[in-house]
Amino acid sequence: MTFDLLAHRYEPARDRPAAPVKMWTRGVPVDERAMGQLLNTALMPFIHKWLAVMPDVHLGKGATIGSVIPTVGAIIPAAVGVDIGCGMMAVRTSLTADDLPDSLAGIRSALEAAVPHGRTVGRKKRDVGAWGDDLPPAVTEAWAGLDAGYRALIARHPALVKANAIVHLGTLGTGNHFLEVCLDEAGRVWVMLHSGSRGIGNMIGTRFIDLAKEDMRRYHLDLPDADLAYLPEGTAHFDDYVMALEWAQHFALTNRRVMMDHAVAALRKVVTRPFDAALEAVNCHHNYVAREWHYGREVWVTRKGAVRATEGLLGIIPGSMGAKSFIVRGRGNPESFCSCSHGAGRVVSRTEAHRRFTLDDHLRDTAGVECRKDAGVLDETPKAYKDIDAVMAAQADLVEVVHTLRQVVCVKG
Ligand code: 5GP
Ligand code: MN
Ligand code: MN
Repeated sequence: MTFDLLAHRYEPARDRPAAPVKMWTRGVPVDERAMGQLLNTALMPFIHKWLAVMPDVHLGKGATIGSVIPTVGAIIPAAVGVDIGCGMMAVRTSLTADDLPDSLAGIRSALEAAVPHGRTVGRKKRDVGAWGDDLPPAVTEAWAGLDAGYRALIARHPALVKANAIVHLGTLGTGNHFLEVCLDEAGRVWVMLHSGSRGIGNMIGTRFIDLAKEDMRRYHLDLPDADLAYLPEGTAHFDDYVMALEWAQHFALTNRRVMMDHAVAALRKVVTRPFDAALEAVNCHHNYVAREWHYGREVWVTRKGAVRATEGLLGIIPGSMGAKSFIVRGRGNPESFCSCSHGAGRVVSRTEAHRRFTLDDHLRDTAGVECRKDAGVLDETPKAYKDIDAVMAAQADLVEVVHTLRQVVCVKG
């Protein structure tokens, strides 16, 4: 198949109406810059029907976080972003609050020791947050399912070898990624975590964003925002991207599963009584692409900070390190392309959060949570995020709440 330049060509909006933008944002703040970014994305000629905007919407790189972008004949790699397959996993255990020790500090340090994270210094300086030379058996075992795909990938893109993917499998990453022990509405203990495809996903994302930008220059396409550079279906770059994307998404799912196994094993060492650990389990992406059927045709759906919410499907909507999180069940609302938000969403940028909030705010807003209480974590403080109750109210037609969780321990990357 050859690339039909004219079919995909970007034309200024005056020649063609922009796609509609449908928003689920009643009662929640929407940044003006995020709005501008959505309107730019809506100008792309390959949007199927409309953009669906979730209540956690905020400014992102390439495309707005909290948006669902259905496309025909092209994918925008910067809209997917560099943490391909980022998402959440949660499991319910048979423990209840009474089974946990009075001091939660022991649980937190056991979790921090079991799962390498942004503050774990490896043997080599460049390997911060990675495994050292001794890989745990669970990592080597899980890698077996990824190895063949990885070999196919690096055969096409030898530079990706540098990411040393295996040492990141089962590791949390930095900043916004987290690992928590939560209690639900009935006092039952859950383990929940947030991470993606780590260094290798980042290299894949970056490489294909660059390739898309090069293609745009080659075709002389002048976009409203250079980060909207796209890969047209029918090109070798597109096919390579889809292969890499699917592999990175598989890596991310596996990464969360390995971490969950290690986190539960760590919990077993501290809570000596035996318990079951997968009574209810959810493992969902919130940064990814899937081939789906919507309004009569197959399309690529990019969920950039959004979760799939087909009828009956379970998903996870976290609040912040000091707010409620939710296990939800999709209502299958077709207008949202069967989606919901991926969290509360930021109200202020990281830099602005450091400027605006104090350690006193943070101590107050994370009272009762065993977590970081230092000034370095102010960019993740609960006030940096929207009010999760307002966010949930704005998407009542997208999901119903199954469980309401509140963390007692929170490890940040
Ligand atoms: P993102 O993937 O965009 O970095 O974050 C997803 C969502 O996770 C954020 O919008 C926010 O609502 C939520 N969140 C951020 N930090 C934490 C945390 O430490 N614990 C919980 N439960 N949720 C968080
Ligand atoms: Mn991520
Ligand atoms: Mn994420």
